[in-house]
Amino acid sequence: MPDYPNDYELVTLAGTEREDSHTLQAYLDRGGYSAAKKVLSEGLTRDDVISEIKKAGLRGRGGAGFPTGLKWSFMPPADGNQPKYLACNADEAEPGTFKDRDIMRHNPHQLVEGMIIGGYAIDATVGYVYIRGEFWEPYARVQAAIEAAYEAGYLGPNLFGSGVDFDLHTHRGGGAYIAGEETAMLESIEGKKAMPRFKPPFPANYGIFGRPTTVNNVETLASVPPIINNGGDWFLGVGTPESGGTKIYSVSGHVERPGNYEVPLGTPFSELLELAGGVRNGNGLKAVIPGGPSVPMVPGEVIMDANMDYESLAQAGTMLGAGSVIIMDEHTCIVRAVERIAKFFHHESCGQCTPCREGSGWLHRVVHRIEHGQGRMEDLDTLLEVGSRIEGRTICAFGDAEVAPVQSSIQHFRDEFDYHINHKRCMVGAGARASMAQAG
Ligand code: SF4
Repeated sequence: MPDYPNDYELVTLAGTEREDSHTLQAYLDRGGYSAAKKVLSEGLTRDDVISEIKKAGLRGRGGAGFPTGLKWSFMPPADGNQPKYLACNADEAEPGTFKDRDIMRHNPHQLVEGMIIGGYAIDATVGYVYIRGEFWEPYARVQAAIEAAYEAGYLGPNLFGSGVDFDLHTHRGGGAYIAGEETAMLESIEGKKAMPRFKPPFPANYGIFGRPTTVNNVETLASVPPIINNGGDWFLGVGTPESGGTKIYSVSGHVERPGNYEVPLGTPFSELLELAGGVRNGNGLKAVIPGGPSVPMVPGEVIMDANMDYESLAQAGTMLGAGSVIIMDEHTCIVRAVERIAKFFHHESCGQCTPCREGSGWLHRVVHRIEHGQGRMEDLDTLLEVGSRIEGRTICAFGDAEVAPVQSSIQHFRDEFDYHINHKRCMVGAGARASMAQAG
């Protein structure tokens, strides 16, 4: 049984206090599949469902934060018997993100039900759950949930006697970070190497096998049944006026109790930090990456005044991303942390675009030499220059993502880079050694 130590009402992790929460029986015991039944047997139109989701203010929980109802409305009208698809992105490869796997492990039927409703709303008759290859247990749980749903008649032909069909399949990925980019994921579902596509055309016009496809994240789809059951106004009321509902934050790094915390959007960062037990050993908070390494890091004192929602974090100079909150305490060497992140992005670039393929290597090599005491003063300008030549010049958002941690760390912690270059060693290590010497 997972431990979600907070007092808020849970939406996507609801019911997970039960040992058997992943089973069909546990889900039915708390009203499972009543939302799908309501939609399909009470005559709700596709537009009714999309309107409710729009009213709820549900935004994509995978990182981009795009309004879900609006995305669903982009799907073109029916085109004879040609199929349309709903694809659930369960790749979850952003470092520091570990929320979707918990939904799949402990509440897989809510995801299945969300996909039935989403499939109906976009007129899709087939869905895929694209699960990262390393996620064995989440895959097994989702697969078992799909099989149980078929057996109970919640998947397949003529759902709830409505005449609507919906088939659902799992598809396991190979573990590449870039497979989480939505068009790379579509390529992978087609059996090809996960490489992002040029856009336009967007998936709503040209998706899986060239057919209209909508891609949604696990947490987004798992939010749908409670919205249908309780109404869009209820969901909006839980979050902020611009973004409804709760969000699972994966809190990791230098905190006392790392873990997943589902709280309303707009919860103050300070409150979230408190839920996670505060900074480890009572240390000071140096920096936070609130949405995974592909969003800018911000100094601790800046984020302590921010709320955990899209707008407030934008004002603080960063982004909510996937809600992967990485906490760095006062003993963190920022240069070393950024070197690790730059190495990761260099390794994971798919290599299609020259600015990303070559630029990610430049970023990593320059930060690496600074970290290893071989930096030059002009290196910081080189890093900023290289970053500016990557941003906005690539096929997918990975290019911008690899630049964000480098640029933001130089912007906020330039003194640490300068110290590394001038003294050929880490400022934090030097400070820690000095205070240890003083303490005897
Ligand atoms: Fe591949 Fe990078 Fe280009 Fe994205 S930006 S398509 S990851 S090379």
